Amino acid sequence: MTDATASANPATPDGTTDETAAAVARARERVASLHGELVRYGLVIWTGGNVSERVPGTDLFVIKPSGVSSDDLTPANQVVCTLDGVPAEGWGNAHGPSSDTAAHAYVYRNMPEVNGVVHTHSTYATAWAARAEEIPCVITAMADEFGGPIPVGPFAIIGDDTIGRGIVETLSGHRSRAVLMQNHGVFTIGKDAKDAVKAAVMCEDVARTVHIAKQGGELVPIAPENIDRLFDRYQNVYGQNPEGAMR
Ligand SMILES: [Zn+2]
Repeated sequence: MTDATASANPATPDGTTDETAAAVARARERVASLHGELVRYGLVIWTGGNVSERVPGTDLFVIKPSGVSSDDLTPANQVVCTLDGVPAEGWGNAHGPSSDTAAHAYVYRNMPEVNGVVHTHSTYATAWAARAEEIPCVITAMADEFGGPIPVGPFAIIGDDTIGRGIVETLSGHRSRAVLMQNHGVFTIGKDAKDAVKAAVMCEDVARTVHIAKQGGELVPIAPENIDRLFDRYQNVYGQNPEGAMR
């Protein structure tokens, strides 16, 4: 066992391979540290917001505990869950999982290409959600990152699969990795948790810029063919690794 495994996993179920234990430990470390990014970028307050990540090669994911303030989040107190959205036995889960766990689990069950999910009530993006208004694609950075507008998902009450279903229905076949759930806030998906955090940070950034732009006058749309070119270049050419979309 590595040091990381010892520090991030308070316990492991009988029969767990070293490989699985190490994968869970790494996911616990990433989820705890990435939640700090939500705080650093001002996307969450108090105990709000949650990050989760699928554990590669398993039917598990790791999510932030419920009701624990950001300063007290550690790798060891991140909750290991099954894809049914319940805490997995034997992993030393000392806290209940985030109250949004059912939504994250629904996404993992229904979008196998998604390995990270993030939820925030970040101010500007949630203001668009409060109006149930999609964010139009009027800046090139948004075309790069989201390939078009950021869509609005349905109004949904927390506690069952309704939010998860709304996320999956809105984002399936859509280029955007972010959805504005009506009257609620932002959910983002990614190829891993870091990618979903990036989408949440970029979503708030474009929500703020486009909101400010609207105050000054009419928004100028980007022609669809130019959005396609920008998106394609950013996904396939820019950088060493493909950025952005899941597809
Ligand atoms: Zn919420």
